[in-house]
Amino acid sequence: MPRSCVVVGAGVLGVCVAARLAEAGAKVTLLEQARPGHAATRSSFAWLNSNDKAPRAYHDLNRAGMRAWAELAHSADGAPSADGAGHQAWYRPSGNLEWADRAEEHAELTARVRRLTGWGYPATLIGAAGAAELEPALRLPPSVTEVAWFPEEGYLLTEPMVAQMAALATGRGTTVLTGSAARVVGIDAPNGAVQAVRMSAGQVIPADAVVCCAGRWTPQVAALAGVACPVPLVPWSSPGAEAPGLVVQAGPVDGLTRMVHAPDVHLRPGSGGLVHLEAPDVAVDLHTPDAKLRDWAAELLRRARHVVRGLDDAEVTGYRVCVRPMPADGQSIVGWLPGADGLYVAVTHSGVTLGAHLARLITAEVTGGAPAAELEPYRPGRFAPTGSRPLA
Ligand SMILES: Cc1cc2nc3c(=O)[nH]c(=O)nc-3n(C[C@H](O)[C@H](O)[C@H](O)COP(=O)(O)OP(=O)(O)OC[C@H]3O[C@@H](n4cnc5c(N)ncnc54)[C@H](O)[C@@H]3O)c2cc1C
Repeated sequence: MPRSCVVVGAGVLGVCVAARLAEAGAKVTLLEQARPGHAATRSSFAWLNSNDKAPRAYHDLNRAGMRAWAELAHSADGAPSADGAGHQAWYRPSGNLEWADRAEEHAELTARVRRLTGWGYPATLIGAAGAAELEPALRLPPSVTEVAWFPEEGYLLTEPMVAQMAALATGRGTTVLTGSAARVVGIDAPNGAVQAVRMSAGQVIPADAVVCCAGRWTPQVAALAGVACPVPLVPWSSPGAEAPGLVVQAGPVDGLTRMVHAPDVHLRPGSGGLVHLEAPDVAVDLHTPDAKLRDWAAELLRRARHVVRGLDDAEVTGYRVCVRPMPADGQSIVGWLPGADGLYVAVTHSGVTLGAHLARLITAEVTGGAPAAELEPYRPGRFAPTGSRPLA
């Protein structure tokens, strides 16, 4: 078991990994260049689901992620929510309602429900009246007669979750350093073995293991160790890049309690009486002019008013383009980086759904446990240049 571990990045992955490593008895330092949770995690739609995840192994990993949050939300310290089930206030297993407005999409939804049911994933088609009973705030178009209901899905309020996980890590002895001085600018790995991490303010932290949870910055941070194996992500900074997405906040909303996936807008309740909105057809990037973002935000609220009551007096309270850390082949990248003993990387889309479960698996591997079979498809070695792939 490594004596000292440095975790780089305090998004959902970093805080969960730090809390688990500390629980396992490691001496942990968590380094965050800004504020915990400020990047993808804060802006995430944070839908806990394995609704349309393929292939089957990835579906199962996400399902395990959903279960892990349910367990963690019961066992983590802190005040239980008022839901009577003893959950943390940031854990919202609200269920999710989805419908389609065109025959082709409805056929896809029906087939998906059938496939998921066959995999043992709770999913069912219910009538419009049943949907209205589950979510009285719904304003279903009269043409919709069938709605898919996914009762075990839900969402997290990521800011209080990150705060609690960081506090849990600290309570277990983790040193948490934040702000620009804590930006990692070097990883010393003489002879191919990690020895220390260098921070921008000049501080050097000895490390037997470095767990890189740096989200979209993971390729650059991993490269600091000077290894040949890349950690390729979908481009995010260039015009037209696919990784950025628009998240809109609006409110006040009265009465919405569940996740709702309507054909042209997705809604989830937020904190403070707000609702988060996303839409599948919004194409924005980090260069999109603010006026266009504002127009999109107004358009999403307009669409939301059509499907949910209680938004008549709502206004857009915020909108933001944020970047999804998306591995180039769409699958998670999790494991020891070939070529640098002691450097572990973890970067993934669906990191909110997967965070609590990945943290357990990563901690077991970093502290010397057997490699987790369920992580085998996601090893960074699949991107190693030909000839440098580790032997199976
Ligand atoms: C719009 C949007 C919608 C999404 N919807 C969902 C969803 O519905 N469900 C779901 O499961 N997932 C969703 N995701 C994906 C999910 O939010 C991410 O996969 C997850 O938040 C990634 O967490 P992370 O900890 O890996 O990265 P981040 O939250 O980005 O954290 C990485 C951290 O590393 C720090 N860092 C980077 N470099 C350094 C350095 N050199 N030194 C120190 N610190 C450093 C950063 O400052 C940052 O805080 C969505 C993402 C977005 C953007």
